[in-house]
Amino acid sequence: MATDATLQFRDPDAAREIADRIDALMADVGEPVNLMHVCGSHEQAIAKFGLRSMLPEGLAVRMGPGCPVCVTNMPEVDEAVALAEDGAIVATYGDMYRVPGTAGSLADASAAGADVEIVYSASEAVELAEENPGREVVFFATGFETTAAPTAAILAAGPPGNFSVLSAHKYVPPAMEVVAELPDTDVDGFLAAGHAATITGYGLFEAFVEEYEIPVVVGGFEPLDVLLGIERLLEHIDDGRAGLENAYPRCVSEEGNTAALETMWEVFETTSGEWRGIANIPDANLAVREEYAAYDARERFEIDPDVGAADPLTERCICGDIMAGTADPDECELFGEECTPRNPVGACMVSSEGTCKIWLEYGGRPDL
Ligand code: SF4
Repeated sequence: MATDATLQFRDPDAAREIADRIDALMADVGEPVNLMHVCGSHEQAIAKFGLRSMLPEGLAVRMGPGCPVCVTNMPEVDEAVALAEDGAIVATYGDMYRVPGTAGSLADASAAGADVEIVYSASEAVELAEENPGREVVFFATGFETTAAPTAAILAAGPPGNFSVLSAHKYVPPAMEVVAELPDTDVDGFLAAGHAATITGYGLFEAFVEEYEIPVVVGGFEPLDVLLGIERLLEHIDDGRAGLENAYPRCVSEEGNTAALETMWEVFETTSGEWRGIANIPDANLAVREEYAAYDARERFEIDPDVGAADPLTERCICGDIMAGTADPDECELFGEECTPRNPVGACMVSSEGTCKIWLEYGGRPDL
């Protein structure tokens, strides 16, 4: 429900004023501009509030690899399914429940009798372990820095002995580098996710801006936050500057949550791994460090997924292109037909942060 505080950030008159300034900046820039945001919550705000209808011709705002559920790789889902089929209680966030693995999802495993529990936090998964002392409870942990930090805190605090983590956590900055280097992805500016930056701090992006000479603005998630972030990016582009700016100062600081970061890096280390449909990205997966191996499901169990054959429709899924910013959902021939939230073919149609699901729900390119 919208409160007085949120309504300040949804004021239509203020939105129109920013949109006018965006128009003027685009006229000044005088050529098409491609912006990328890296967050499902930004896409939700853009689609739900019809913000694309306020943007001038020639200004494209696309979603990159910002949906953690969508970039969770099929073999990672297969591992979780195998653990559930082998008798562990697998706890995971609701969005992961229906994400297809190679041949099935956790929902399929549950329907076949496996014990899969949806939780809202890592600490709820620990409660499950406490309530079931005779069972192994594996937390299939997904998400970027915002959820990796709480998972780390749970392991650092010493959970029960029957609790372990199957980490599919991801680390965003290296993925931005890969997207910036993709030959077909021509990004003029990145709108970085405010909630992840609450943990990491906006200073983290300094090295990226310097290396790639692409401006980065950290933005919040209300409609005015998003429009303001777009305006700030256009100011940088118009001035020919590749700068870094924090347009979400009410939540984000330069250094971030240093205590949470310390714990996150105490428990996790980066490792290379496949981001579903995008690429093998160096140092963009978060693996449990050796010191916490007792809680690492990959160390604790022999996980041997019996994957079988993949659904042939998955070969026509263009989720990877969408997350790389080179295609929109309505360019997929399965969009809204063979692929729907009830029968998702790709992960982008499952999660509330997936571009395909968001576009199907709200319409991605409104023409009001
Ligand atoms: Fe993949 Fe479905 Fe999106 Fe097509 S509509 S890209 S199949 S998730």
